[in-house]
Amino acid sequence: MFFSKFLTTTTMRKAIKKSGRVRTDLQRPHCGGQWTRARFRSFIVSALRSATLRWGPKWACIDKAFVRLGPNPRTGRMCKLHRCTSCAELFPKGDMKADHILPVIDPVEGFVGWDSYISRMFCEADGWQALCGPCHDRKTAAERAMRDGALKIVCAPRSRQTKEKG
Ligand SMILES: [Zn+2]
Repeated sequence: MFFSKFLTTTTMRKAIKKSGRVRTDLQRPHCGGQWTRARFRSFIVSALRSATLRWGPKWACIDKAFVRLGPNPRTGRMCKLHRCTSCAELFPKGDMKADHILPVIDPVEGFVGWDSYISRMFCEADGWQALCGPCHDRKTAAERAMRDGALKIVCAPRSRQTKEKG
């Protein structure tokens, strides 16, 4: 009984993969059977991310990076200038980003659980640094590359095995 059910599912998966239709065999354990685990996860991540907008320590790091008043390079008007922790240049507040010193998801370990995710996302003032936009983008890209590299290492032997079997 179980075996025949498994066969059907596998056959269904192969057929769906060939035809390119939307997969209907994914489990949908959330939101009254409508959401997959991935959909639920992205919903929670998005809710947590928007909560960081009300997290005081996040913005405190940018206030702490204030150096002096000076002309805004774009408008020429006087504004507060803040120092980027990475390149040490001065920027108006609107160009600064609050950055998690320790990435919320460790690029090598990956997602380990919500407890770790939440405590890293809502870290105290010493866990934040003020970065300019380009430095923040560079750091994010480097973390992504590291994560993709780690994923390749984890996935490579498995995908090779699958190829040999198929
Ligand atoms: Zn910078």
